[in-house]
Amino acid sequence: MTNFPTLVRSRMHAPNAIFIHGDDGRQFTYKAFWDLSGRLANSLSAAGVGVGDRVAVQVDKSVEALALFLACARLGAIFLPLNSAYTATEVGYFVSDAEPALLVCTPENSGVLSALCKTVLTLDERGGGTLMGTQSADFKDAAMTWNDAIAILYTSGTTGKSKGAVLTHGNLASNALALVDAWAFTAQDVLIHALPIYHTHGLFTATNTVLLSGGSLLFRRKFDVDDVIALLPKATTLMGVPTFYTRLLAQQELSRELVQHMRLFISGSAPLLPETHKAFEQKTGHAILERYGMTETSMNTSNPYLGERRAGTVGTPLAGIEVRITHPVDGVGMIEVRGPNVFKSYWRNPEKTAAEFTADGFFITGDLGSFDGQGYLTISGRGKDLVITGGFNVYPKEIETEIDQLPEILESAVIGVPHGDLGEAVVAIVAVKHEAGKIDEARMITALQQRLAKFKVPKRIIAVAELPRNAMGKVQKNQLRESYGGLFKS
Ligand code: AMP
Repeated sequence: MTNFPTLVRSRMHAPNAIFIHGDDGRQFTYKAFWDLSGRLANSLSAAGVGVGDRVAVQVDKSVEALALFLACARLGAIFLPLNSAYTATEVGYFVSDAEPALLVCTPENSGVLSALCKTVLTLDERGGGTLMGTQSADFKDAAMTWNDAIAILYTSGTTGKSKGAVLTHGNLASNALALVDAWAFTAQDVLIHALPIYHTHGLFTATNTVLLSGGSLLFRRKFDVDDVIALLPKATTLMGVPTFYTRLLAQQELSRELVQHMRLFISGSAPLLPETHKAFEQKTGHAILERYGMTETSMNTSNPYLGERRAGTVGTPLAGIEVRITHPVDGVGMIEVRGPNVFKSYWRNPEKTAAEFTADGFFITGDLGSFDGQGYLTISGRGKDLVITGGFNVYPKEIETEIDQLPEILESAVIGVPHGDLGEAVVAIVAVKHEAGKIDEARMITALQQRLAKFKVPKRIIAVAELPRNAMGKVQKNQLRESYGGLFKS
């Protein structure tokens, strides 16, 4: 095996087994999926796409869109998925940065996007569109190697400008194989796939573990909680963001009986609250397995499949991956990662690439964390979220954990906002449990003063209906910083 498609091919022990059950009633065997990728590779080639070319894709979730990734890999092109919510202006930025040979978009968007790229083809969510020619499924794969680029994934940009992380065939292969082992995936697995496929979680983590183990996907175009409830008795595994789990928990039907066919629930992409972990275990008997990864690295650490899954931690490093904490203060420091999973570079950005790697080859993740005595990693937040108030460092996660324990609070986000005297002031934005959505700010601040050093106590606590999140469930702190930036301006 020399590249990702050859690995996929070599693991395809039962070509007539079902790989994908679509929510539109269509089913794809492994062979049908492979053939579809061959047809698409021929279409790409006919559109002038060659080895090393980028293929930018902004389409709705579909089996064809997933097969398009494999088609690019077989052709030696670089797949570049884009969030379907991006506006034409945003797509324009990615296209000018990546200079793709082809842009694939929805038929509805082709009018506005056609000016962005010299070749634009369409794909709809049922596999129609100008991309889908009548080409043969026979395709002679390019001789790519492990170190060749397979995808560019733009970071979600919750802080600063989006950068393109260049991932290789070897990155994806090593991570998928590590996850198949770590999470004990087999051909008997049936995974509920309700994540978007423009992000690493749904595109690679959820898809490739199943693709390499011979199991099947219950492929849903969107996450719909009633739909997932109905699927649980037929499935064995679910991969989701924390929001999936809080929504499931709010359903009456969620019970031990409903999930008796399930063997594993996995969460990641954003922190899972320990309360959610506990409530889910009480209701279903399943301890959600939390893991930690990012666009640039795929998965780094995971709670164990066998053994204790610790709420509030992201477990221990996966096989073959080194994780270390640097410059710790009270155990908390920068999380750095080295291994075959770590991306090659930021697209056409050698300065940024150099700045984010250490001399000995570790990637500086930007996440802060600490290891406990048993080697379980806890993430304390993004380094960039650190608040410096009156010269003191405040880690938002510590304050959020305290606030979340107050009875009326559902969840919180702590940010630093400009303050004439302190440089930055600690401010908490909170979502409240009860409907009225009101808080007694002064009483809450007094309660926090009992538990936290004075400099850590928020200067203001502001209630909102809900915290702003992106599609992967991450709280958009930059949005909050913008909204509340003027709080202390006179
Ligand atoms: P992305 O590149 O969009 O996948 O975002 C990666 C970031 O999400 C990481 O750098 C972490 O800050 C965060 N993240 C991912 N998984 C977890 C987790 N289990 N707990 C806390 N944060 C997480």
